[in-house]
Amino acid sequence: MHFMASSDDTTTVAELRKLVADFVAERDWSQFHAPKNVSMALAIEAAELMEHFQWLTLEASRELSSQPEKLAEVAEELADVIGYSFALANELGLDISSAVRAKMVKNAQKYPAEKYRGKYERPKK
Ligand SMILES: [Mg+2]
Repeated sequence: MHFMASSDDTTTVAELRKLVADFVAERDWSQFHAPKNVSMALAIEAAELMEHFQWLTLEASRELSSQPEKLAEVAEELADVIGYSFALANELGLDISSAVRAKMVKNAQKYPAEKYRGKYERPKK
């Protein structure tokens, strides 16, 4: 994986959340942003993201990162998914950073690195 010179290192989650919140407020779209609707929109955007990979081989899907035009289309769909994730967090008053950190702690407990390194299997319940 490679990273281009990026503003991710200097942009805060709060800034991006505000970008989405302002966009919604300026259009008075909060009335449409019931959590149910936003979660569905998020899933629809995830499907639009998947469409770009639907019929590709695993290898071809990896090569997409070196195809600027296709990569730009994928970036737009990823931005839609993330944008609706922010919108959902905004509607529900969720702190994304806390939620992600807490879930990663849970994931690390569920998939200890020494047991799962280089392999995946569904853990026993
Ligand atoms: Mg889209």
